[in-house]
Order: sequence, then structure tokens, then C-alpha cells
Amino acid sequence: MKTATEYLESMKAYNPRIFLGGKQVNLHENSTTVTVLRANARVYELAEDPKYADIMNVFSPYLGDKVSRNLHIASSVADLERRSEMATLTSQMLGTCNYRCVGADVLNALAGITWEMDRELGTEYHSRLLNHLKYLQENDLAVSGGVTDAKGDRTKRPVEQDDPDVYVHIVEKREDGIVVRGAKVSQSGAIGSHETLVIPTMGMRQGEEDFAVAFAVPNGAEGLTYICQYTPFTAERELSPDVKYLGNPLYGQRETCIMVFDNVFIPWEHVFMCGEAKYSGRLVARFAKTHRMNCGGACKVGFADLIIGATQLAAEFSGIQKAPHIVEKMTDMIRINETARACTVAAALKGHEEPAGSGFFQPDDIFGNAAKLTIADGFWDILKWAGDIGGGMAVTMPSELELENPETAHYVRKFMKASAPAEQRLRIAKFIQNWCAGLHGAGTWHGAGSPMAQKMALYNLTNFEEKKSYARSLAGLKEE
Ligand SMILES: Cc1cc2nc3c(=O)[nH]c(=O)nc-3n(C[C@H](O)[C@H](O)[C@H](O)COP(=O)(O)OP(=O)(O)OC[C@H]3O[C@@H](n4cnc5c(N)ncnc54)[C@H](O)[C@@H]3O)c2cc1C
Repeated sequence: MKTATEYLESMKAYNPRIFLGGKQVNLHENSTTVTVLRANARVYELAEDPKYADIMNVFSPYLGDKVSRNLHIASSVADLERRSEMATLTSQMLGTCNYRCVGADVLNALAGITWEMDRELGTEYHSRLLNHLKYLQENDLAVSGGVTDAKGDRTKRPVEQDDPDVYVHIVEKREDGIVVRGAKVSQSGAIGSHETLVIPTMGMRQGEEDFAVAFAVPNGAEGLTYICQYTPFTAERELSPDVKYLGNPLYGQRETCIMVFDNVFIPWEHVFMCGEAKYSGRLVARFAKTHRMNCGGACKVGFADLIIGATQLAAEFSGIQKAPHIVEKMTDMIRINETARACTVAAALKGHEEPAGSGFFQPDDIFGNAAKLTIADGFWDILKWAGDIGGGMAVTMPSELELENPETAHYVRKFMKASAPAEQRLRIAKFIQNWCAGLHGAGTWHGAGSPMAQKMALYNLTNFEEKKSYARSLAGLKEE
């Protein structure tokens, strides 16, 4: 397996076409893009740490050796549980994405669907995928996941759009492969990955075969352009003389980009679905099932652990930690987070083999959706209490740089001191600001799918007949 240093070394071979803030930038030199490399390197580092070995690594039957769990296809309930623990752990350690998370979940979804297609259609997708998986595992590559299309007018199907490119689609089939066009948006960490695994954003119908496409594409392949997000945090990082003054100094925000596919060639050995519209809905549903447990639920639980820790520190730094209303608010944050954590654990423990006979395991859908919905909703409340307990200072604080300014340092030390010195209060207030006045509320809401999608899934998955019959029986009402 790769060490963190070997990962960073390996990335030097890649020079993707990246734009950020209106300018072309170098992946290895830009202050924001390097946070993605740093975060990925930290994930490789965690895999090297014996303390986390069981969570981060796993034996692969395909390679006959230890591999990263980010490249593993779950084959038991224990695997599912460890996978969700990895999501929580990496969030606790990074305060940003494990940028290999979406790729891992796409891989799991592809395993089942390609297995089914090969059996039912006589295709070669599964054997191709397993060959590719072996290559990924052997080289311990970082893989991001490209799912979300630009989608254009949300009320129109892909074929009805004015511009079909708002959904990634096949524009040419050749003897040696396919050519694809379109864009995947909000792509977490794609710039710092060795490759991206791409699947459709939703189930395709008859007539939409060109949009039912799944493939692997190496970073920086010809025709790929990455247009990165630019936020106030990007500007702040560009201007800061020292990263220690930033809210998440080393790993920054969850950096995403629009990944543009301008006639990108994909050789057949990297194509895992090509026109099988009937299977695309099941592929996306399986991805969603896994991703809602991991990214939607377990990952955000790790973020909330950080916010709860920082808020308790802020309370102690201002001496209010024992006040009954503070204890109650802290307890409310814990209650929300532990409920979400319980749903992720339940999703794993109630997981099952899917498709039957494949040996691949998927989490329970109801608990996975409940995990994502609980934390998506509850995260706003957690942020609310962090903002409350942190005080106005979380948004009105001066820069920690004032402590190095002879004209203001003594004032800031004098007036920002409470139960802890000004340095500590400013540092933790900045950390809280990063969450409460930052990108994470909306990010948590939409990441792994906007909540309406989970609400629809929960409603549709619920067995109302069973519940109605319990009620009828106890109320003494006859079945109709
Ligand atoms: C921080 C972050 C990281 C992400 N990382 C990745 C990643 O690595 N890979 C990836 O593929 N994706 C990623 N995503 C994308 C994520 O999956 C999407 O944001 C999510 O699926 C919602 O899609 P959207 O952003 O296009 O929102 P929209 O589709 O624009 O949704 C906005 C609103 O419109 C509603 N809506 C949408 N369609 C309809 C409709 N037809 N009818 C009625 N209402 C509708 C939604 O419910 C929502 O309320 C990431 C997102 C975030 C925020």
C-alpha cells in the first residue's frame, strides 16, 4: 500500500487543467488545491497507523493482500460497519472530506450491477470491473466518484433538455472505446485523485440509452477540465500569511469542482455500462443506499463530533460550561448526533447480500436514509447551539494576527481573555466560525442527495400495510 509520501510523489505525474477564481492554477502549488492533496495524504497516513489499521485496511480476496478500505467491495455486515466507521474517523481527523469516499461507494454499486448484467445479458462488465479493481488495489490509487450531472432544467428528462450535454452521455462508439461529453458538478476532490469513477446521476429510461454510461477516467485525461469552487475561504487562504490562522488550517473546505468532459475517450476496458438503461436506476439506487449511510450519515457524525468538542471548549474557555442551559444545549447536540450515529450503525448491522448470490453487501435502506435525514436536519441545530454557546465572538472576533501587532496585542489580550487566554479563545472561535458561518450547513444538507430524495425513499420503503394492520387489529377494526 502507498504511504502518504508515496501518494504525494505519485500525484506529481498529474498536471490536470484546473481553473480557480478565473485563473488556471497548478494543482501542486495553489494554496487551495494543495489542501486536497494534504487531506488525501492524511487518509493514506491513517492507513499506516496501527491504531486505525482495522478500520482503514482490509484483506482483499481479489488481490490476496491487504488493501485500503476505500477500494474494497463489502462482503459482510462487518465490512459495512467498518466502512461507516472509516467515514466517521476520517471526518474526525480531517474536518473535511475523505475525498476517496464517493469513489468507494460507486465501486460497491458497480460491483453488484455489473455482476447482474454479466449474468443476465452476457456482457463482460463485471470481469472488466474486477480487473480494474485489482489494478486500483495493487497501486492503492485514490478514486473520486462522479455522479451528479449539471441537470439543466430539473423538470425535463435528459433527452428533453435544450442542451443534452447537461447530462454526461456517449457521443461516439468506436472499435476501441467510447467518447463521452457533459459535466459532473460538485466533484469532491477529483483534482487530487488518480482517477474518477463515473455513473449516471439517475435512472435512465428507454430512449435515454446514451445517458446510461459508467466508466473510469484517469485524472487529467485529454478533454477534461476542472473548474473549482471559489469561496470566501479560498480568498482568506490566499491572503493568510500563515495557515494556522484559518478555521481548518491544514485541510480547509470540502473542495469541489465542475468536471467538464469535452469529448473524452474511454477505452472499452474502462467502460462498465454502455446503454443498459434498464439497469441504471438500480445502479444509482445502490450507490445512494451505501452513500447515505457513509457520506450522508457517518461522515457528518464525525464533523459533529468536532463541533461538539469545539463548543465544549468554548464554553470552558468562557467559564459557562456548568450553567444548566449550556449543559442542556450541549446534551441536545449530543442527542442529535448519537441518534444519527445509531442509524448508521443500524444501517450496517441490518445490511444484507445484494444482489442475492453475488457475495456483495449493501446497507439497510431505511436506516441509511434515516441517518442522512437525521443529521441533515440536525446539523443546523448543532450549528445553532455552537453559534449560541460560542457567543458573538464566533463571528465578530478580530484576527489572531492582532496578537502579533504591538499596537493592538495588549488590548486584544486584555479584552478577549476570559477563563482562558485570548490566544486559545480566538483559535477555537475561528474553528467554530469555520462551521457555523461557513459552507458546511448547506454542504451537509445536499451532500449525498438533497433531503427530499431521502424523504421520498423513506415514504416509499415504508410498509404501511403492516402498520395499518397492527392498528386495525388493536383497535378491533376488521380488515377490509
Ligand atoms: C459539499 C458537497 C460535496 C459533493 N460531492 C459530490 C461528489 O463528490 N460527487 C458527486 O457526484 N456529487 C457530489 N455532490 C453533489 C450532491 O450529490 C448534489 O448536491 C445533490 O445530489 C443535489 O443536487 P444539486 O446540487 O444539483 O441540487 P438541485 O438538484 O439543484 O436541488 C435543489 C433543490 O431542487 C429540488 N429538486 C431537484 N430536482 C427536482 C425536481 N425534478 N422536481 C422538484 N424539485 C427538485 C431538490 O430537492 C432541492 O430542494 C456534492 C454536494 C455537496 C454539497
